[in-house]
Amino acid sequence: MCYLHPVAERPNLTVKTHVHVTKVLFEGTRAVGVEGLRLSDTLEFRAAREVIVCGGAYNSPQLLTLSGIGREEELALLQIPLVAELPGVGLNLSDHPNVGVTFTIKGEDSLKDALNDATLGQWMGGGGPLSTNGVQVGGFFRTEEGMEVPDVQFHLVSALFEQEGLLPPPAHGFSLSACVLRPQARGQVAVVSPDPTTKPFIVHNYFGAEQDLRSAVAGLREVLRIVAQSPLAELVDGPHLAPASSEDADLEAHIRATAQTIYHPVGTCKMGEDPLAVVDAECRVYGVEALRVVDASVFPSVPRGNTNAPTIALAERVADLVRRRVAEVERAGGVVPAPAVA
Ligand SMILES: Cc1cc2nc3c(=O)[nH]c(=O)nc-3n(C[C@H](O)[C@H](O)[C@H](O)COP(=O)(O)OP(=O)(O)OC[C@H]3O[C@@H](n4cnc5c(N)ncnc54)[C@H](O)[C@@H]3O)c2cc1C
Repeated sequence: MCYLHPVAERPNLTVKTHVHVTKVLFEGTRAVGVEGLRLSDTLEFRAAREVIVCGGAYNSPQLLTLSGIGREEELALLQIPLVAELPGVGLNLSDHPNVGVTFTIKGEDSLKDALNDATLGQWMGGGGPLSTNGVQVGGFFRTEEGMEVPDVQFHLVSALFEQEGLLPPPAHGFSLSACVLRPQARGQVAVVSPDPTTKPFIVHNYFGAEQDLRSAVAGLREVLRIVAQSPLAELVDGPHLAPASSEDADLEAHIRATAQTIYHPVGTCKMGEDPLAVVDAECRVYGVEALRVVDASVFPSVPRGNTNAPTIALAERVADLVRRRVAEVERAGGVVPAPAVA
């Protein structure tokens, strides 16, 4: 919104809401627009120069596949005509698996009852408990001596955060978690139906690599060590969701039973020059013309930290490239050159 609002009046900007984009339209291998659904209406939008897909790490590979960009044999099974063979579409899915503990506290100093009419009013004025993002303390940690960079990130939430925060906290408390920063395991987003409203099949394969589990176990043990010492120890009333002990077997059982995403999926349309790369260094999709993917799906691997700012940085960078490109294309008489095939 901070990008759109200042330019909302521009005559060359149109925002269409409630449209589910179903495919990129091609003339040969050149992207010329997109098709979308608004309820039962099929809408078509034409692009004079380029189409930029930014559906995120789950949806961008789905949209490319639905548009005929992917693995030939899978497209044939889905009965989607092939536009360009790109074997890496939907592969290389990576994310930060997160495992935490929750503890109830003595007293009422948490965000348990923070959401009500009064606090909403305070928030509209820029203050009150809702003006925090909830994650008030963080940290980075090397789980093994000699590691050059941290492999675990801590998040402390001043409420009992369980079940992805979808249920109201039952008591006053806090949550402390460790996420694995550079997971080795890779998953996949697979399109299972040519119907664009069918969700893709998402397999994360969390802890599929031994090192990922090792980092999680060591990170969780450190979490318990932090909670057991001052100043948290004095605040703690008791465990709400925690492993039975800090023995490896109990930590692993807790991880396998309670680990969840920390919502940082990336990598399914990865940037690079290897055979599984989907976009080049300017986010242009290989094998076709006038099509870019600009979102977290192009990150070759998940950054060692949160993903929102890197995604914004990527988008700003590509916006600059597009602006320069527009000037180049105008000079070339409107012809958009294709990137080299990986
Ligand atoms: C609950 C949650 C909490 C998070 N907290 C943090 C945080 O604290 N810090 C941080 O750095 N990151 C956080 N993230 C991660 C961050 O939001 C993402 O990394 C970032 O938004 C990725 O940007 P993106 O452009 O790749 O995808 P998105 O932001 O997901 O944008 C994709 C957009 O495309 C739209 N879309 C998808 N398919 C279609 C289609 N077919 N037609 C039309 N529209 C479509 C979607 O509706 C969405 O609006 C959080 C994510 C979640 C889900």
